[in-house]
Amino acid sequence: MSAHHPDDLTLLDYSAGSLGLAQALAVSVHLGYCNQCQSQLRKLNALGGVLLEETTPASVGANDDQIPEQNHSQMEELNKSFEALMARIESEPVEPPKRESTGFHNPLERYLPASLDELNWQQQTREIAKFDLTNVVDMGSARVALQKIKAGAKVPVHTHRGNELTVVLKGGFSDELGVYHAGDYIARDPSHKHSPTALQNEDCVCLTVLDAPMKFTGPLMRWLNPLFAWRA
Ligand SMILES: [Zn+2]
Repeated sequence: MSAHHPDDLTLLDYSAGSLGLAQALAVSVHLGYCNQCQSQLRKLNALGGVLLEETTPASVGANDDQIPEQNHSQMEELNKSFEALMARIESEPVEPPKRESTGFHNPLERYLPASLDELNWQQQTREIAKFDLTNVVDMGSARVALQKIKAGAKVPVHTHRGNELTVVLKGGFSDELGVYHAGDYIARDPSHKHSPTALQNEDCVCLTVLDAPMKFTGPLMRWLNPLFAWRA
């Protein structure tokens, strides 16, 4: 169970289909890990249904206190959201590779090899690697990538020119504000300055969504900026 979640407003926007594509992807990935947010989303979806019915003259008896009983399982509800998202993602036809389930259930799965180790990682430093997801799926102007940090390694102190969303896929990391494990969803705005350190026991892989490139702030680390620039 995750300890760090999207806020209610984000889930509301997700339910309404009004989140940006890349942010919706991050929320979807988190939902795959998080029963609590699945449950919250189910309520929001039901509420959205009630509001829709209320605008239909033929509907009778629907009001805010009578959210319809949900007959679908949590995953069916979630799949509906995923399907809507994937319909938007799949503007260009990409034949997903057929393979056995890896136990890594999230909307990214169809775009990734069976093992994350098989990804064509671009090494940024000896300890940090990146896989740019915008190479395989169109995410508009957002920068969407997987980042891999070696167990115990530290990412140089940086701020962001824009907002950064992180969802931990594997392993975990800590920074000045907390410790994060698989499934955790972390939203940071440009006022945050942090230096994540991967936990010691295994490499950490995260999905990151940026609406502007990272900006390193350490005096010796500015040279890293070009390496982290997207589409360099
Ligand atoms: Zn959650």
